[in-house]
Amino acid sequence: RFVTLEGGEGAGKTTVLNALREALREGGDEVVATREPGGTPLAERIRALLLDPSHESPCAEAELLLMFAARAQHVHETIRPALARGAWVLCDRFTDSSYAYQGGGRGIDATWIAALEHRVVGLRPGLTLLLDLDVARGRERTRGRDLVPDRIEAERDEFFERVRAAYRARADADPGRVRLIDASRSADAVAAEAVQLLRAWRAD
Ligand code: C5P
Ligand code: MG
Repeated sequence: RFVTLEGGEGAGKTTVLNALREALREGGDEVVATREPGGTPLAERIRALLLDPSHESPCAEAELLLMFAARAQHVHETIRPALARGAWVLCDRFTDSSYAYQGGGRGIDATWIAALEHRVVGLRPGLTLLLDLDVARGRERTRGRDLVPDRIEAERDEFFERVRAAYRARADADPGRVRLIDASRSADAVAAEAVQLLRAWRAD
């Protein structure tokens, strides 16, 4: 009952998350919608540290470890308890984001990320919906909306191309869990496909 949403800047994760939450609530089940980095008071403070432009940018290793520190707390305090009481957990980003951004984007070795995932997180979503969008379109959609932290927005296209490629590699390596959705279509069409994929997955 653990479902995550992944994708680059401007892919529309927030819109899809809201549609999935409504679809699951129709069934009367408890749904916990949460996000990363964040999802607990401590983890939200780590998020603020990561996104705050007033101090120096974290080096890649510091960024990775802060992401996992936030994730450890999030799993411990929010995700595991919710799953244990039978709730659905719907999370905007999870460990796949670290493989994509800290791995693909910043060049950290995936084996190190996998070790942290194994030791610190210890759980994987049952279903991950990956909203795939080309880099230029993503930039267009986020322009002027103040959604992307300055130090990420300042990255060159190559950075976002590596993030996208790492995401797609996650889907190729684990197609049973990670479903790729073409996010270049209208928000409604993307949300409808996401809901359909979730319903199909829940049914089997
Ligand atoms: O998902 P959301 O857009 O709120 O994420 C905030 C920012 O954090 C994004 O711009 C994303 O690029 C960045 N991020 C990151 N590494 C992660 C997760 C998010 O650089 N593992
Ligand atoms: Mg968002």
